Amino acid sequence: MSATLEGRCLCGDVSITLSDWTPEISACHCRLCRCAGGGLMAGFDAPAEAVTVRGEVRRFRATDFAERAFCPRCGTNLWLRDDDGDYELSPGLFEAAGRFPLIREVYADCAQRFARLAGDHPRISRAEYESHHKHVETDR
Ligand SMILES: [Zn+2]
Ligand SMILES: [Zn+2]
Repeated sequence: MSATLEGRCLCGDVSITLSDWTPEISACHCRLCRCAGGGLMAGFDAPAEAVTVRGEVRRFRATDFAERAFCPRCGTNLWLRDDDGDYELSPGLFEAAGRFPLIREVYADCAQRFARLAGDHPRISRAEYESHHKHVETDR
């Protein structure tokens, strides 16, 4: 694995450098991710101290425990982050992330028909997920 991973938004105003990350993709089909991501959101984790961001970023809080960040110029999704948690970065920003395996889908039973993903990775239902994690009562 190379020492850093470099990514950028569509317009290039925001660039992100990672010095550490977990090369595994999770996908989420909850209502918030469906809406924000055009049908679903995918992400991979990096610890906060390993993330360097250059450029102006806007943040939106769809819940009281997490932020979603995007480029104010081109609107590209950058990350989702629980307060004080790891960054969950958008794989599309990083060329190398195209080779990361999909290891999990959450809210799998809420997926829009077109967004059902192939593979034999674990598929976690809304009920399973919400029994173990913070969530909002707005899905469906
Ligand atoms: Zn941009
Ligand atoms: Zn979600």
